[in-house]
Amino acid sequence: MALIVQKYGGTSVGSVERIHRVAEQVAEAKRAGHDLVVVLSAMSGETDRLVRLAHEVTPSPDEREMDMLLSTGERVTTSLLAMDLRGRGINARSFTGRQVGIITDSSHTKARIARVTAERIREALAEGVIPIVAGFQGINERSDVTTLGRGGSDLTAVALAAALKADRCIIYTDVDGVYTADPNIVPTARRLDKVSYEEMLELASLGAKVLQSRSVEFAAKHGVPLEVKSSFKGGQGTLVTTEDEDMERMTVSGVTGDRNQAKITIVGVPDQPGVAARIFGPVAEANIVVDMIIQNVSQASLTDISFTVPRVDLGKAVSLVQRIAKEIEAKSVAVTESIAKVSLVGVGMRSHSGVAARMFEVLSREGINIMMISTSEIKISCVIDEKYLELAMRALHGAFGLDHATS
Ligand code: ADP
Ligand code: ASP
Ligand code: MG
Repeated sequence: MALIVQKYGGTSVGSVERIHRVAEQVAEAKRAGHDLVVVLSAMSGETDRLVRLAHEVTPSPDEREMDMLLSTGERVTTSLLAMDLRGRGINARSFTGRQVGIITDSSHTKARIARVTAERIREALAEGVIPIVAGFQGINERSDVTTLGRGGSDLTAVALAAALKADRCIIYTDVDGVYTADPNIVPTARRLDKVSYEEMLELASLGAKVLQSRSVEFAAKHGVPLEVKSSFKGGQGTLVTTEDEDMERMTVSGVTGDRNQAKITIVGVPDQPGVAARIFGPVAEANIVVDMIIQNVSQASLTDISFTVPRVDLGKAVSLVQRIAKEIEAKSVAVTESIAKVSLVGVGMRSHSGVAARMFEVLSREGINIMMISTSEIKISCVIDEKYLELAMRALHGAFGLDHATS
């Protein structure tokens, strides 16, 4: 008998009818003799609705209160599913993040998990009860509610699977696996049978929201066997696992796009030692993750520094940077929101050269200007104008031989 953690995303629990379908699937796995822990997201669109509501009340909502609000979406779906199962004579019980002992730090809206006790889950399993756990939430040491960042129910599932030493963690979603690109943007994308933790981490951090990047990081660190499957149709999905030789055969295994970044440029920065530290130190202290940075060649001892930050942190970043710019006597601060990042990922890049050159050639053939470039051992990213993102993704997908064969 296996212990399986199943996670269902927002679309999979988006209506009463879909909750019934999840209940049937849970009942079936139980009948097959497995021990189950079920993690749920809020109904699709619910977390966005709550975020909008908060911004209608005030332009920059307090982050502690935001977490209190956002955590409610998952309470709705978990209690409904538990009721549904109990109505079918199956013993199930819903739990909040707090009740299952998901303890985090205090970075509200993007808290990191410090430890997981899972006491109540063990008790429920011992009684033969199916625990239905609210994803995306925990509590800090003072028992304030925290949330784990958007898409964080994936992390709840992985963290519980690690704590319980589950045999498998299955992420059920609205696509039947991890594809070579978002199948809703690139119709010729192919499903991957397996993908390495390392590649998946890059894909997820660079925009493939099918898995939250922190959940992949956690799974890799704790060796959690992770699968992505469709919650609507059966069949094979994608296994996220340790790297093997097959994976290296492909130079590029995926193309991603990310619209969640914005660019800040500080114009006319005095070109002196210590200036970069004075800019990026306070930004890091404010918990804002800077992705790409470029510094232009200086003229008359002045330079321009551009960098990207998550769009959600833009307001916070701009007010901080405006203050620093004044202190260091820079000329001005400019903001560009309409940027996007297109990336190629593949462990095969370690042993194949020329991928970057080919990427630039493909983008130039499409008339797409590159604003920023960054590379690592297994990825290349370019920042481009947001309006060309889908065109860039499709062109690169085809040029690197990822399109599925058409019959
Ligand atoms: P859930 O609500 O189940 O958590 P998400 O919307 O978070 O689902 O993630 C699933 C979506 O991820 C898909 O509908 C798809 O549009 C998107 N996606 C982006 N990149 C990829 C990829 N490489 N493979 C599969 N899906 C992807
Ligand atoms: N409901 C949360 C979100 O929309 C968490 C999740 O779905 O994983 O981000
Ligand atoms: Mg998700």
